[in-house]
Amino acid sequence: MAERKRLVESAASLKNLTMRYFMEAHAAAARGKPVVWIAIIVPIEILKGFDAVVAVPENHAAMCAARGLGATQAEKAERAGYSMDLCSYARIDLGTWFDGGGGSPSLGLPKPDLLISNNNNCSLLVKWFDVYRRELGVPHFTLDVPFCYGPRSEADTEYIVSQFQDLITTIEKLTGQKYNPEKTAEAVRLTNEASRHWKRFLSFAAQRPAGITAFDSFVHMAPYITSFRGTEEMVAHMRLLADETEELVKKGDYPVPNERYRLLWDNIAPWHQLRNMSERLSALDANVMYATYTSCIGTIEGGVDLYEYDGGDPLRYLARIQNFSVCPYGLNLRYRAMGEMIKKFGIDGVVFASNRSCKVYSVMQMDLMRRVEDELGIPSVMIEVDHADARKYSEEGAFTRIEALLERIGA
Ligand code: SF4
Repeated sequence: MAERKRLVESAASLKNLTMRYFMEAHAAAARGKPVVWIAIIVPIEILKGFDAVVAVPENHAAMCAARGLGATQAEKAERAGYSMDLCSYARIDLGTWFDGGGGSPSLGLPKPDLLISNNNNCSLLVKWFDVYRRELGVPHFTLDVPFCYGPRSEADTEYIVSQFQDLITTIEKLTGQKYNPEKTAEAVRLTNEASRHWKRFLSFAAQRPAGITAFDSFVHMAPYITSFRGTEEMVAHMRLLADETEELVKKGDYPVPNERYRLLWDNIAPWHQLRNMSERLSALDANVMYATYTSCIGTIEGGVDLYEYDGGDPLRYLARIQNFSVCPYGLNLRYRAMGEMIKKFGIDGVVFASNRSCKVYSVMQMDLMRRVEDELGIPSVMIEVDHADARKYSEEGAFTRIEALLERIGA
């Protein structure tokens, strides 16, 4: 089936930002700017207070996977002795590095001078970055962010802020630059503005038929995990995305026009299956129109609405939202978030994507599924995926289960 092009201007904008992100990183590094690799949850807005190149290995791995290169790059790490059971993001990224950037559309990332990871998504990420510390002999700063079972305590917020201050001192010593707090404040303000547009874009999922698919959100979240977070360019992109979606909805142009089944996706995007899966679902009149993975951006502790920056101390705000992503939540917060999404967006069924790579996202899904079915009465299904390694995904196996879910919803 030919792909029906929607969100044409937003797609062009995204392509431009993606290309610029990688090209400008390599070019600035070649000019001698310090290069910092960060994990996606590390607040890039702090780095905006310095003149540095910022690159995100997880984003690079996802980009390789979305282009069908995940398995090829991962195998290079496996040949070097890294187990296939490790997260495919790590294997893709390490494999690319071991091959000197070979096989990567961006030729990998420029060599780092500093690594910054955090442990609130997973401990594997810390180990992954530590491989580079050993291999490259560059410093590795790890943010220790407490796991989240309820509202972030004041003591935890202070603890995170103090680590941000240590990080700033570390970068000042390493680069010889003086930190500019106004630039961080401006970056936080811009991220917040972009997030308002992001939430406006996601809100079109509540339409019937939905004005978006979760696949649109998977693709367009990319600027959040590049150096464009906290910039005017990201604000412009998110504004365009929300405006273009609004125009399409006004014209009655919906991604799944005959939508009969409204589904929620729980886990990381299946990067290697975006087109296949969305087209096959659309042919079944099913729309995965919302996802926990992209809903959590700009939120805290299982909320669905944006947690706004009030113009106060930017480091405190950044510390406060350090638990926005799903992985650090306890079960009750994840259940609460899911319940709110189901109600707000009129969801008929939940697809729990048990992810062979991301154990932290997947570990509570069986309990969540039971509660969603028993307490909320929403039919659900568990399918097996790997977000970036297509070798660990069976399309027929997944669709047999999804089709059974649709039958239950339709019964
Ligand atoms: S295991 Fe999950 S949280 Fe950890 S690096 Fe991989 S995808 Fe990210």
